[in-house]
Amino acid sequence: MEFVIASRNAHKIKELEAILRESLGDVKLLSLDEAGIHGEIEEDGETFRENALIKARAAATSGKAGIGDDSGLCVTALGGAPGVYSARFAGEHGDDAANNQKLQDELLGKSDRSAHFTSAVACVFPDGREIVVEGKTEGVILTEARGQGGFGYDPYFFYEPLGKTFSELTAEEKNAVSHRGKAVRALAAKLAEKGKI
Ligand code: IMP
Repeated sequence: MEFVIASRNAHKIKELEAILRESLGDVKLLSLDEAGIHGEIEEDGETFRENALIKARAAATSGKAGIGDDSGLCVTALGGAPGVYSARFAGEHGDDAANNQKLQDELLGKSDRSAHFTSAVACVFPDGREIVVEGKTEGVILTEARGQGGFGYDPYFFYEPLGKTFSELTAEEKNAVSHRGKAVRALAAKLAEKGKI
């Protein structure tokens, strides 16, 4: 089964493909470029689900089933921020160092440092059927970075059950417990249900 995934991030595509293959067998994810879809998709939804659907619908214009995902960090003491603005919390898209500095600044003096990552993953079929699933993982924002792996807010996101930050986990360990891993496995389970594909 071939899907078009609304991403140009080769690492993410391989990771999602591996998880889908665990339940669905022979799955191939094509990038937007491979599917001949060029240009940016405007992610202007107010929720992770809306953004995942916007991306999946754009990917489905290829004529194949489209997959889209959107994730972010939601911090309790900040009323759920940065949320859908996680990638550009400090202004510039994808500036992890600035985003983490802003997170630390905003949490200064706050006793509740609980947070969660959420990931929404959507699959849209050319005939219009839509599936959206979510995965969520709880953690605590540390005051000091720990570990070298991962990306984004991982060095500060402490996952209590393993006693480590997400940056201190291997890619496999993180996949097993992460919001994105949970969401993609939930999608795979839905797709594996008889009659969905
Ligand atoms: P995306 O929708 O998966 O591209 O994530 C948007 C932004 O949320 C990223 O740029 C990161 O700032 C943050 N984020 C999402 N997932 C993770 C994660 O697993 N670890 C750390 N940061 C993440």
